[in-house]
Amino acid sequence: MQPRRAGLTPRSSLATPAEFAHGDAPEIATENVDECPSCLGREHARFAAGFDYELRTCRNEWTFVKCAGCGLVRLHPRPAVAALPVIYPPSYYAYNYAQKVNPVARWAKAFLDRRKLRSILRRCASPPASFLDAGCGDGRYLRAMSRAGLAKQNIHGLELDERVVKGLSEAGFQVSCERVETCRRIPDGSIDLATMFHVIEHVADPAAVVRQLARWLSPGGLLALETPNLDSFDARKFRESFWGGYHIPRHWTLFTPESLRRLMESAGLEVVATLFQTGHSFWMYSYHHRLRYGKRPRRWCARMFDPFGGSIVALAAFTAFDKLRAFLGGRTSAMLMLARKK
Ligand SMILES: [Zn+2]
Repeated sequence: MQPRRAGLTPRSSLATPAEFAHGDAPEIATENVDECPSCLGREHARFAAGFDYELRTCRNEWTFVKCAGCGLVRLHPRPAVAALPVIYPPSYYAYNYAQKVNPVARWAKAFLDRRKLRSILRRCASPPASFLDAGCGDGRYLRAMSRAGLAKQNIHGLELDERVVKGLSEAGFQVSCERVETCRRIPDGSIDLATMFHVIEHVADPAAVVRQLARWLSPGGLLALETPNLDSFDARKFRESFWGGYHIPRHWTLFTPESLRRLMESAGLEVVATLFQTGHSFWMYSYHHRLRYGKRPRRWCARMFDPFGGSIVALAAFTAFDKLRAFLGGRTSAMLMLARKK
């Protein structure tokens, strides 16, 4: 089933869950995003709506709209820059991953991450002599490239968490606490392999970010970009509000393989492969949100589907289901697109 065409999507009859209607979370400031970041069109239709189901940092109801021109889906309005510390609190799990995740799930994720990096490296024309991970988190990919033999002076990372930047710098990596759009320390044409995993959907201007990454690539260099895939079974099943890939209100732009390809090509890159990874966390959150905040809430049941502390059996089952789907050629909700600089 294709997402509904512009103009046909009715306003949902979403009731405000009590946690948001009567809770302590503040109403935060917003800013409009009148123009589509891809085609600059201003016509759009409502696509989905919901609340910050995961962290309950604010009480606002948020709306995703779909561009009538190019089909790109964006949050509109979105949180104002001044409200970013509210929606990214210090407890945000990306900053505290190791402490929050079950050790078995952490081991499985490390295994899947190693496989992901291997499948990217297989598609490089030659072993990369320089590497950048934009949004490098705890630095797991920087360390993996170092273990693969790349010198630390050629391994770059960008990350907004000052604590991890300090630790990785002390370990000898070239890491700074800044955004792709404003980073000036990396020379153009100097990076053989750039990766950006689950970042592009968070940024204000995804086209500008991909253009900058493309400028940093050397001729023939590869960009590997991973982001949620709207054209997937779970995204359609939970489209109205509860899909885990929405990560409301922290995901601002959502892509399909087609709209991501257009973004890559408009930056002068040639797409060489689209790989589908497991979207197990999105499955877990989708069921969690529906059971917790749906029409007939079942809180005890919802807890089983919390990716942090929920059922490890459910997590394993969704991982196996998505692995099987990807193996059979299906499109899962986490897509990894590889594009080469001409
Ligand atoms: Zn557009």
